[in-house]
Formats: sequence, structure tokens, C-alpha cells
Amino acid sequence: MSEKPLIVVCPQCRSSVEWKPENRYRPFCSERCKMIDLGQWASESYRMAAVEISPDSESGAYPE
Ligand SMILES: [Zn+2]
Repeated sequence: MSEKPLIVVCPQCRSSVEWKPENRYRPFCSERCKMIDLGQWASESYRMAAVEISPDSESGAYPE
């Protein structure tokens, strides 16, 4: 018993994952969990980037 794999916990679904080179999605258990996590991160930064958009940015161009 010398090749005991390191077990980590998937940050997304909390299941046990073997930390090994063949697992290219580590620390996630699968591509699906990795994509979910990346999606959450992306939407988070998108929200922060959109905060500065003002509805009055077109003002000063009234026709009348
Ligand atoms: Zn997972």
C-alpha cells in the first residue's frame, strides 16, 4: 500500500475526487463541475463590470 491516491473534495458537488494526473478537471470531479464553477465566476465579474453603466449616458441629445 504505497500508491495511495490523495483524495480531495470537489468544490462544486462536494464529492471525493482522486488527485491524479489523469484527472484533468481536478480539483473538480468532472468537466461539468468545473464548467459550473467557471460560469459562476464569470457571471460574478460580469455583474461587477456592468455596475458603472448609467441610463443617463445618452442625455444631452434631446430632440426638443
Ligand atoms: Zn463535482
